[in-house]
Amino acid sequence: MPAIHVGTPMPLPMYPGERIALLTQHGKERVIGPVLDDALGCRVEHVAGYDTDLLGTFTRDIPRAGTQLEAARRKAQMGMKLSGLPIGIASEGSFATDPYLGMFPWNIELILWIDTGRELEIVAMAQGKTNFSHLLTADWAEARGFACRSKFPDHHLVVRPDGEQDPAFRKGLSNWTELELAFSAAQAQSGEGQVFLETDMRACANPTRMETIRLAAEDLSQRIRSRCPECASPGFWKVERISGLKCSSCGEPTSETRAVIYGCINCEYRCTRELTDPPRADPRFCEYCNP
Ligand SMILES: [Zn+2]
Ligand SMILES: [Zn+2]
Repeated sequence: MPAIHVGTPMPLPMYPGERIALLTQHGKERVIGPVLDDALGCRVEHVAGYDTDLLGTFTRDIPRAGTQLEAARRKAQMGMKLSGLPIGIASEGSFATDPYLGMFPWNIELILWIDTGRELEIVAMAQGKTNFSHLLTADWAEARGFACRSKFPDHHLVVRPDGEQDPAFRKGLSNWTELELAFSAAQAQSGEGQVFLETDMRACANPTRMETIRLAAEDLSQRIRSRCPECASPGFWKVERISGLKCSSCGEPTSETRAVIYGCINCEYRCTRELTDPPRADPRFCEYCNP
């Protein structure tokens, strides 16, 4: 997608030389840093020294408190506190089924930018397919099939005895020898000889998720670069969609998007942009042509 500058075009970098705190222990700085540094002229700095797993894990040993946005906010604030920097960024993922058919695993990545000096909070997102899955089996051949479908070994796995709640898990399994050993050990520990395998959803263990995080960072950089025409605040972005694009066959309004309203997160300014591409809706979406 090309960069969209909805508000005032920006000849100069938005945050030249400013240091941005990014608290992560799962390698997210590798994709978030380059995207934002290039787009904003800032310097994303990796902050360590706090175990972000204490705020929730995908392996259920520590449940996440609150919403995805609240979890990201806690991480961003912790990163700013540890580094003493006034701008912080954090990302948080969640998993569901796809919004189209509700049949496939789906990943939603949220990324949050907090600028305490300007009193701004900008939220961006990306979503897409993922390999999120699990299997309970006593059979190594079945486990191997599951691993192949899960894009192992590029995508790592977690193995434990008996079921999803067993605390004796091994994360980050990343080669076949390791996986087979972990499978045998879990099977020996299990009363029923059953092994629970699941995809490791930490960013560093899952290249598909890492790419979705990169796309969320791209979305964030576009939102930050779009300034309000009224007050020049970053984050001037879409707040509402207006349906009613006319049908190309009969001319009646359809449910397709006709215009988008952009709004400022700092002042009251809003503006409506009519969409011109496509100029008319496909009759498939028309109540009259395709009831
Ligand atoms: Zn029509
Ligand atoms: Zn404004």
